[in-house]
Amino acid sequence: TGKFFVGGNWKCNGTKDSISKLVSDLNNAKLEPVVDVVVVPPFVYINHVKSLLNDRIEISAQNSWVGKGGAFTGEISVEQLKDLGVKWVILGHSERRHIIGENDEFIGKKAAYALSEGLGVIACIGELLEEREAGKTFDVIYQQLKAFADSVPSWDNIVIAYEPVWAIGTGKVATPQQAQEVHVAVRDWLKKNVSAEVASRTRIIYGGSVNGSNSADLAKQEDIDGFLVGGASLKGPEFAVIVNSVT
Ligand code: 13P
Repeated sequence: TGKFFVGGNWKCNGTKDSISKLVSDLNNAKLEPVVDVVVVPPFVYINHVKSLLNDRIEISAQNSWVGKGGAFTGEISVEQLKDLGVKWVILGHSERRHIIGENDEFIGKKAAYALSEGLGVIACIGELLEEREAGKTFDVIYQQLKAFADSVPSWDNIVIAYEPVWAIGTGKVATPQQAQEVHVAVRDWLKKNVSAEVASRTRIIYGGSVNGSNSADLAKQEDIDGFLVGGASLKGPEFAVIVNSVT
């Protein structure tokens, strides 16, 4: 299913000092060559990271505006991200869905625009705890997938990140079986609703309390093609362990 893909989502964390140290640790880390590695700094530090980070690692943004830049106070355009050398953007992260209030349709439009401008999209999906407990996990992720599928012109440049909301920042990682079950369902959905080719080639990565001790077991699962890491990506050596858990 393509190259293993590991992203480090730094979220709204860090200072110039802590980020310089993290980048220096990443530059010094031994990373398996067979893994695509991406870091996702806060917007204000992207330029700083770009100036220090070696070319082995690509940079993603945490969000992007839904269309061309202009009179949109506080937003960041895809064109500006490209200008800084950014290659990817995370869209539909649960923190933007559930804390900021972005909906499926808006996220789908953002994905379509970013792709049309040549950015890769890390498309996030995932259910809340109450949705899982109510047996609605698959309904929720199918609806989120459909919103992407209804908007995007192509799946060539999309990585899907399954991030169960109850596992994000909680230390309650999904078991390898729980993650694998949803990843298979995502792949089957793509097969039925997009194409067999897209289903087999699209990378489906897992996020939610991934750390240096649980990543190897998760990585063994057939349909886990990488990780989107939050907290543990703020520590260079631990992030390197996760990158190197590729099997
Ligand atoms: P944690 O790894 O801190 O649980 O965050 C996961 C995540 O949201 C990555 O995007």
